[in-house]
Amino acid sequence: MSVISNEDQKINLLGLDQEGLKSFCASMGEKPFRAVQLERWIHRRGAKNFDEMTDLAKSFRAKLAQVAEIKGPEILRDKTASDETRKWLVDVGGGNAVEMVFIPEKDRGTLCISSQAGCAMNCLFCSTGKQGFNRNLTSSEIIGQLWHAEHTLRKDRGVTDENERVISNVVLMGMGEPLQNLEAVVPALNLMLDDHAYGLSRRRVTVSTSGLVRQIDKLAERCPVALAVSLHAPNNELRDKIMPVNRKHPIEDLLAACKRYLKVAPRDFITFEYIMIGGVNDSEEQARELVRLVKDVPCKFNLIPFNPFPGSGLLRSPEQSVKAFSKILNDAGIVCTIRKVRGDDIDAACGQLAGEIKDRTKLAEKRADRQIIIKEITSSSTRSPGEEK
Ligand code: SAH
Ligand code: SF4
Repeated sequence: MSVISNEDQKINLLGLDQEGLKSFCASMGEKPFRAVQLERWIHRRGAKNFDEMTDLAKSFRAKLAQVAEIKGPEILRDKTASDETRKWLVDVGGGNAVEMVFIPEKDRGTLCISSQAGCAMNCLFCSTGKQGFNRNLTSSEIIGQLWHAEHTLRKDRGVTDENERVISNVVLMGMGEPLQNLEAVVPALNLMLDDHAYGLSRRRVTVSTSGLVRQIDKLAERCPVALAVSLHAPNNELRDKIMPVNRKHPIEDLLAACKRYLKVAPRDFITFEYIMIGGVNDSEEQARELVRLVKDVPCKFNLIPFNPFPGSGLLRSPEQSVKAFSKILNDAGIVCTIRKVRGDDIDAACGQLAGEIKDRTKLAEKRADRQIIIKEITSSSTRSPGEEK
């Protein structure tokens, strides 16, 4: 790693995991234990500059200030909903922004973070997908979301003990497909797990994927954390239509990858996310098909009521359909939870995290395509797709 740097090109230490910090220190002629000191200052104590790091020699601090920096996210907006859900909008340059959301609950605090600006996967029901791909976030930008949220929340709550954490769980369920950006995601995950940084257990860090089969194997090799898979359909015919990734990696291959992952996973089940879209994938017959589909994969289901967004052309399933669907899964012995809608008044609900990101894909073309698919998949529904709540 080069540390030759000028004022404009300082290396951002925020995104270096312990290994990265060790090579950085080695390149500065410093011993490896300095890396741990830096890591603790940055991540456990939320230091923003080197002057605060009083147990480092002044000469080292001066050298650090020349070549390195600790640069957190630029916050464009910070809103708290009536249910205490808090959402930050983060500037990622070029007129783009990503979002992160903190969801407090009685026994835990979950932070939902983003891994890319936009997303290339183009899922039919997703506002991020609809807006196209802009770029991968860097490790600093990914871990910077946790760094900012954790230290801001501690400050606001008057927490001074560096061993106390406000955020107990992290989910990569914001914008982007995390497995398409493993190079940056893995160092960020390492920091989440490292005791000298956030010390979260592997079971409390969840990566959610639309189903990139080879990358699931890579995650298993490089940093196995809890895995959530966006399934959303009980067969290839429907999944092909609503998730283009399925045309390349059909359900059989995806389920086989899930089983391989379970051999190293920190939990003994995969979480399947299943969006409930009215008249598309929410019938009782589809629930029974789903039970047959996953019969030999240890799993839990999380049913997510679809969050409509302007122009989505899709509907949220009625509550009674969600309940009936969940009952069929439960009766078949599959643990199934229904996701509560949180932060509705600040658009912080899942899949709504795109905010006002620029639309940079060939939209007209895509829209035409979307309309055809939406017509096809909703043709059996009695409601018209325009009838959004
Ligand atoms: N790209 C990853 C992770 C980010 S999306 C993935 O797809 O898994 C996180 C979750 O939000 C996924 O399960 C996704 O399918 C879901 N989601 C996307 N759009 C949504 C919407 N409009 N309503 C409800 N959930 C949505
Ligand atoms: Fe991308 Fe996930 Fe949205 Fe699909 S659901 S477009 S993979 S962010």
